[in-house]
Amino acid sequence: RRRRAAAELSGPGRTADGHRVALLVNVGAPRELRGAAEADSEGVGLFRTEFLFLDRAEAPSVEEQTAAYGRVFAAFAGRRVVVRTLDAGADKPLPFATAPDEPNPALGVRGLRTATRDPALLENQLTALARAAEANAAEVWVMAPMVSLPAEAAAFAARARAHGLPTAGAMVEVPAAALRAEHLAADCDFLSIGTNDLAQYTFAADRTLGGLAELLDPWQPALLDLVHRTAEAGGRLGRPVGVCGEAAADPALALVLTGLGVTSLSAAPAALPGLRAALAAHTLADCRELAEAARTAPDAATARQLVAALG
Ligand code: PEP
Ligand code: MG
Repeated sequence: RRRRAAAELSGPGRTADGHRVALLVNVGAPRELRGAAEADSEGVGLFRTEFLFLDRAEAPSVEEQTAAYGRVFAAFAGRRVVVRTLDAGADKPLPFATAPDEPNPALGVRGLRTATRDPALLENQLTALARAAEANAAEVWVMAPMVSLPAEAAAFAARARAHGLPTAGAMVEVPAAALRAEHLAADCDFLSIGTNDLAQYTFAADRTLGGLAELLDPWQPALLDLVHRTAEAGGRLGRPVGVCGEAAADPALALVLTGLGVTSLSAAPAALPGLRAALAAHTLADCRELAEAARTAPDAATARQLVAALG
């Protein structure tokens, strides 16, 4: 195959035979906004809102949140912005939202679970997001982190819709969510797979420990199995299924994810040209062949080698 240089390509991600895969950027801090907005992308696939809440004694006001979200939506006018509601706890402790004395914070009251303990935290954030969405022309989608049960996704989507945010989704970061993806997808509008946490919880391996890198490798076939299951469920129900963890930034793995049925990839802006070029050099059938080889491989190293040899 002739592989075109990344610089020759632009616009929406698509395979050689025209199958669309949305290429989106991750945004996690105001300083990243400009570069993210200037990147050739269809929008933001993961807007991490924790930066607003960190290093504070209490949560920011609705007004302050509205202004901060408005700046992001204005920068992406006419494009999609997928906002993740507050993901506190574990690697992101917050004094007003998480308990300091949990023995296992990664398994504690974190992510969407903090909203059960303090409903006003989520309510205020949804109020601010709805106001900022109303005042700007971006297409705002909202999603909840660390969803474990379909009922949690349903309750979140109901809250979002009550605030006038019609497109609500769930992150798939816990094996139970992937195993029940069809139920989850039935209760919301889209799914987004967070491979960083999904790897952590699938392999019972702390994502902050560099020494566990082999277990946290996104090429692990068991992880690809969960992605496959989630993407197939989304496909059956006609729901978009994105990947927004680090796995989405690897061009070879992006082909595998596409072949597994993932419909969007969200990564750092610098990763997008490589993803676009990899997709443009392969048909959807190629991607499916690579995905099947990787997913059924005996281990991560073999999965990588097979894809490198076939791709
Ligand atoms: C993930 O877990 O893969 C993810 C995208 O979220 P974060 O890295 O912010 O936990
Ligand atoms: Mg996560």
